[in-house]
Amino acid sequence: MAIETINPANNQLVKSFDEYSSEQVSLIIEKAQTAFLTWRETSFMERSKLMFKAASMLRNNKNKYANIMTIEMGKPITQAIAEVEKCAWVCDYYAENAESFLSEEFIQTDASESYVQFDPLGIVLAVMPWNYPFWQVLRFAAPALMAGNVALLKHASNVPMSALAIEEVFSEAGFPKNVFNTLLIGSKQVQDVIENPFVKAATLTGSEPAGKAIASSAGKELKKTVMELGGSDPFIILNDANIKEAVKDGVTARILNNGQSCIAAKRFIMVEEIANEFETEFVKRMKELVVGDPMDDNTELGPIAREDLLEELDWQVKETVKQGGKILTGGERVDREGAFYQPTVLRNVKKGMLAYSEELFGPVAIMIRAKDENDAIEIANDTPFGLGASIWTSNIKKAKILTKQIDSGAVFINGFVKSDPRLPFGGVKTSGYGRELSHYGIKEFVNIKTIWIK
Ligand code: NAP
Repeated sequence: MAIETINPANNQLVKSFDEYSSEQVSLIIEKAQTAFLTWRETSFMERSKLMFKAASMLRNNKNKYANIMTIEMGKPITQAIAEVEKCAWVCDYYAENAESFLSEEFIQTDASESYVQFDPLGIVLAVMPWNYPFWQVLRFAAPALMAGNVALLKHASNVPMSALAIEEVFSEAGFPKNVFNTLLIGSKQVQDVIENPFVKAATLTGSEPAGKAIASSAGKELKKTVMELGGSDPFIILNDANIKEAVKDGVTARILNNGQSCIAAKRFIMVEEIANEFETEFVKRMKELVVGDPMDDNTELGPIAREDLLEELDWQVKETVKQGGKILTGGERVDREGAFYQPTVLRNVKKGMLAYSEELFGPVAIMIRAKDENDAIEIANDTPFGLGASIWTSNIKKAKILTKQIDSGAVFINGFVKSDPRLPFGGVKTSGYGRELSHYGIKEFVNIKTIWIK
């Protein structure tokens, strides 16, 4: 894929970039290694000071950075501004907490003193997706840098302006040169970066095929990885749910970020008793959505990030219809310039149909009926993915029991799944492994070192 910004709201080329040569990449990695040797010696206080400055940089320039994201991948501008603010939050969070998360843990043994310390690993490569161009990067970079690592970013090829803007945030905040570097490279060059002996670990947020490619390259080199991959989160509505609230949150959870979120509610699993009511209200709300120019403050749904992704989504919908799925609303691209897809609801989706088992990355909700609660949980787990899940019921005691039966990295009761710097984030099954955020996230890229003294 060429490294270029194409505005999906009109499919016009905004700017294209030359890929870095392999010599340029090697040189940057050497410089990053030199930067690491000094950066690892800095105190938490020094790192925090810079990380707080990065947070201020983000807040002070939120409109500028939000505009870049909306131009590059089409998310509604109000959501882009909220994303920049959330990035500032994660910087503040790790600036405040990294030292306590990584302070020595004393353990009584036969030694006169024994404890665990958390040393940085070195250069960590982050391969990132376009859907949250700032948030995905910052939630990796803030803990990684606070732990004393240095970072290399290979961003998705359609968001190079975001990639360079994030590099600017760290450099203008005063981080030493080469502690955070953007590599403008295509996916073919990733393996060479992983094989470079100075690179100690890698993380990917993206699709399952990319995860398999990067985990294999890193596995061959015995390098640590964290994988944040796709999801097809169930949104389970039980018969004692507050249907009005469930519909409101369900629609938001499906269409936020133009339907392109890993933790979006993708499969709406309704017990038979309330299915008609939920479906009717859900479709009504989907039809009311304001679809249009993502730069407009009133827009609720903008375009799909790239024309090829829209075509793939449309194909998935049409295949499911051929297999017996019924369209309740939408099902076509919007008749205007740009990569817009109609808010779509498919009913009667059953096992064996494409939309039942594949991730749909766009504003398409699928409705699945369950006989009862047990059947609903069985359907929820009947997926290769295991990222998040949402259960709607007024019986919290029962819901807590059900959380243990769901194979996912998070379960939200009476709310939609969202990330929060204070809570661990990640998946099981083909949604990946490892965790980001909270104190768990910062411990992924450290050497957990035992010290024993007599
Ligand atoms: P993608 O195609 O996998 O791309 C993600 C990144 O991986 C891009 O930088 C891409 O580079 C790179 N890449 C792709 N194939 C590669 C390969 N064979 N070797 C090395 N690098 C490779 O995913 P996407 O379409 O951008 O993002 C959507 C996916 O990400 C969805 O499945 C979504 O659910 C998932 N996601 C997961 C999370 C999470 O936290 N679990 C969060 C957000 C998104 P190029 O752009 O140059 O191809």
